[in-house]
Amino acid sequence: MDNNNSQNNSPQKPKFNIYWIYGLIFLGFIALQFIDFDGENESISWHRFEKEMLSTKKVDKLIVINKDLVEVYIQDEFIGDFDDIKTGMTGQNGPHFTFKIGSIENFERKLEEAQKDFNDEYYVAVSYETRKDILGEALGWIFPILILVAVWIFIFRKMGPGGGSSGGNIFSIGKSRAKLFDKEENNIKTNFDDVAGLEEAKVEISEIVEFLKNPTKYTDLGGKIPKGALLVGPPGTGKTLLAKAVAGEAEVPFFSLSGSDFVEMFVGVGASRVRDLFSQAKQKAPCIVFIDEIDAIGRARGRNANFGGNDERENTLNQLLTEMDGFDTNTGVIILAATNRADILDSALLRAGRFDRQVHVELPDLIEREAIFNVHLLPLKVKKNLDLSFLAKQTPGFSGADIANICNEAALIAARKNNKEVGRQDFLDAVDRIIGGLEKKNKIITKQEKRTIAYHEAGHATVSWMLEHAHPLIKVTIVPRGQALGAAWYLPKERQITTEEQIFDELCATMGGRAAEEIFFQKISTGALNDLEKVAKQAYAMTAYYGMSKKIGNRSFFDSSGNSEYQFQKPFSEKTAELIDDEVNLIIENSYTKAKQIIIDNKDKLKELAELLLEKEVIFTEDVERILGKRPFNHPEEEVLFAKTEDTENTNSQE
Ligand code: ADP
Repeated sequence: MDNNNSQNNSPQKPKFNIYWIYGLIFLGFIALQFIDFDGENESISWHRFEKEMLSTKKVDKLIVINKDLVEVYIQDEFIGDFDDIKTGMTGQNGPHFTFKIGSIENFERKLEEAQKDFNDEYYVAVSYETRKDILGEALGWIFPILILVAVWIFIFRKMGPGGGSSGGNIFSIGKSRAKLFDKEENNIKTNFDDVAGLEEAKVEISEIVEFLKNPTKYTDLGGKIPKGALLVGPPGTGKTLLAKAVAGEAEVPFFSLSGSDFVEMFVGVGASRVRDLFSQAKQKAPCIVFIDEIDAIGRARGRNANFGGNDERENTLNQLLTEMDGFDTNTGVIILAATNRADILDSALLRAGRFDRQVHVELPDLIEREAIFNVHLLPLKVKKNLDLSFLAKQTPGFSGADIANICNEAALIAARKNNKEVGRQDFLDAVDRIIGGLEKKNKIITKQEKRTIAYHEAGHATVSWMLEHAHPLIKVTIVPRGQALGAAWYLPKERQITTEEQIFDELCATMGGRAAEEIFFQKISTGALNDLEKVAKQAYAMTAYYGMSKKIGNRSFFDSSGNSEYQFQKPFSEKTAELIDDEVNLIIENSYTKAKQIIIDNKDKLKELAELLLEKEVIFTEDVERILGKRPFNHPEEEVLFAKTEDTENTNSQE
């Protein structure tokens, strides 16, 4: 980072730019085209030469140059006869004219023939010369080299770090690309208050803050400061945020970079960047180095060795391991790394003394989501009585980044409607938009297609309504959105384990769409592709992964290590493969049969539901409940979720 400083301090003088040289060379070439090194003699035809010069015996001598050009010298006393002889650089002495010849033999023959009549009283002397065009030849080989050099420089400049002002050239290719956030320079303001939820992770990691702030407390007792912690969790859950907050809390500099920043097409660059990063970090110690997506370099070594492997990546990883071992525990450089796949990391990275601690950062639960909403609503102007817990309930499975996105999207939607404040409906619209994509109101859909879609979605709704374990329904729509032509929206329950019955009920609900098409139209359509894909995957997982099939028994062929030894070879015999196929078929058929049965039992109600859907395009739980009656199994917790509000009414009329 020192070079940064020096750059800031140096006075601004016009910078030398390599493009000036290119410009000069280019101008030089253009200039060359205009300078005539052959002097000012005129190029003429053989015909004119013979008629005007040779037959009138005015030629003094001829010189054949390089076997293809003839220089004509006119006798001094006749020079005046030719208007077009100019006295240029070559002066009066000639050559006065030139012409090209095809071959020497031909030229000699023609010349002899033309002089036949002179009977030796006049004979033009012909001499032969070989002249070297040094300039032309030199250009002939210098020019390609110049082009090569230019291309080479161009490529290196392109590959340099972003072509920024900080020396984007080949010499800095081995330099670390870490961005430094420093208290003085960039003012890191992030602290633990900005990270909502993640209480356990914060406790774990606040110890690191303590280490950084007050190392002697630990070292006095003989303890060693940990070298690193690995933040593991799905994308967008706040790993970077947490690492920044640690730096902010500890008030130490923070180097941030991504694992892929080490990767370059040249061998050795990654390792050199690692060295550079650590030497920079040591100068700034105590500090935090944050490596995002560390799996880009930290993937277990030696896998796929038959494909040549990736030696460069291994070198980089080795260098990282060495550096982590190498620095003294008390230098105060702590490495935080983030990944969403700890299972594929090299075990050497995870051993004690390197990333000693693993902090799991999970998707936020209901309470955490509410807290995250709280953080991200601060900068927004929201309606006073906005119910945060309702919003949190509407966003199961959303990450912190998704929630940040929803808040922003909601503000944009409210602005588009010219509202002064962001209201609840704006948030719901934002959720819809983020899950489903943009509404496509102008998609061309025929009446019959619309009917099919309506019955398909009503099928999903009816089947799921009647099943005990299916997720609660929020709304059904046939407004096309993103890729989907219609959708039944559920609110997935947050559960940590799922029972066989629950999965099966989900399968039935998913099959409900196609079942309705078959029962009402006696035809099936391609509209169920998505459903079928989901069902097939889930049924396969049930048999091959979860041991939920009697015939296969309690066996799982799941491979959590990601070790792709089984890539080309299934871990089971052909016989088992057939069994799995049979079981998968059976599960899918059973769920389809059950879905059809439910639809047959509720045919009239489903029809009513579909017709209502065709009319309104969006229907809510209340409408479904009115038509189908209360859900047959008791689901008391759902009552809270769907307290209808005025806002929801608005959407109804709007769509
Ligand atoms: P990750 O590194 O895990 O992929 P980030 O830390 O970059 O995710 O998170 C992206 C954004 O999501 C953050 O900038 C922040 O706005 C938001 N975010 C994620 N988790 C939280 C959280 N727990 N509290 C507040 N904001 C969060």
